[in-house]
Amino acid sequence: MNEVNRVQGLDSLIGHEAAREWLGRMIREDRLPHGLLIAGPRGVGKRTLVRAVVAAFFCESRSGCGACASCEALERDHQVGWHRVHAAEGKSTIGIDQVRSLEQTLSIRAAHARGRVTSVEQADQLSPGAQDAFLKTLEEPPPGNVLLLTTSRIDALLPTIRSRCQTLTLGPLNTEELQQVAERLGLQPRVPWALAQGCPGLLARLCEEGAEELRRGVLWVLQSPRGPQDASRWNLVLRKGLPAKPEREVLRERARWILQVLSSLARDLAILRAVPGDPNIDNEDWKEPLTELAGQAPWADPAGLLRRLAEARRWIDGSVDPAAALTTVLFPPERSLSLLAGFEVP
Ligand SMILES: [Zn+2]
Repeated sequence: MNEVNRVQGLDSLIGHEAAREWLGRMIREDRLPHGLLIAGPRGVGKRTLVRAVVAAFFCESRSGCGACASCEALERDHQVGWHRVHAAEGKSTIGIDQVRSLEQTLSIRAAHARGRVTSVEQADQLSPGAQDAFLKTLEEPPPGNVLLLTTSRIDALLPTIRSRCQTLTLGPLNTEELQQVAERLGLQPRVPWALAQGCPGLLARLCEEGAEELRRGVLWVLQSPRGPQDASRWNLVLRKGLPAKPEREVLRERARWILQVLSSLARDLAILRAVPGDPNIDNEDWKEPLTELAGQAPWADPAGLLRRLAEARRWIDGSVDPAAALTTVLFPPERSLSLLAGFEVP
């Protein structure tokens, strides 16, 4: 059995200790809330945690032992008590029809004696209508049902959805925990650890062949004589190595990764501006070029830049063209608005 499919109990995960401890106790005492929202950045480990909850919930020893019949069924992806809801392949929303069909499923008695766990992955993808339709079920699911929602964009969920759930927020892992994850998965990052921003799900990215090249690409844009506003350089980096007409999701992923690199560099530039002497930075190997850049005008307002980065991330997760969202990050507002004309801004 490979590492990805192996059942992991709550005790054997790395990081998120308080959340794991609480979940384990709730499961052992049979007090798991019927509506639970697990929130945290992309790649922080929400899906892994959900699977560990499912394992423990159905496990004969309530631990996720990996050896009992229930754990073995989960390992083979045949855990009949676990029902999963997510956007259909190639779609970015969970529609109202899916919520209706979920209602029907929940009204039928669970096939497993312990009941049924339904996970709604990336619940922020529920369309506004679907969220509305979901409220009643979430408030009072039929007995024996537990609903686990996950989201990396909690602000995209209706307050009425949030108020019907107990929320568990997962924060980033520290470097030591990330190193443990990498060791367990046999990963060997090619770029500084800090780029994963505490998210194990991003570790694989750090190990990809093009990771270092992409990081260099971002620095190359920042060093442009035209400044970080150089849209043509951004476009080159965004599309490098991709087919002429890449799928939007591929482009989106690339744009997200570029933002990840950019936030790490922006953080370093802010530190280099603010802290005298020889401060520690994430991209320690680029101290010289970054120190040179830090003195320049575009980096005079790190808070503004971080705000725009967060905004660009929202745009990319929404339905905005990733290239437009990315080139907009550092553009003055009047220019960015014209670039975005024709795109829907969430
Ligand atoms: Zn077990």
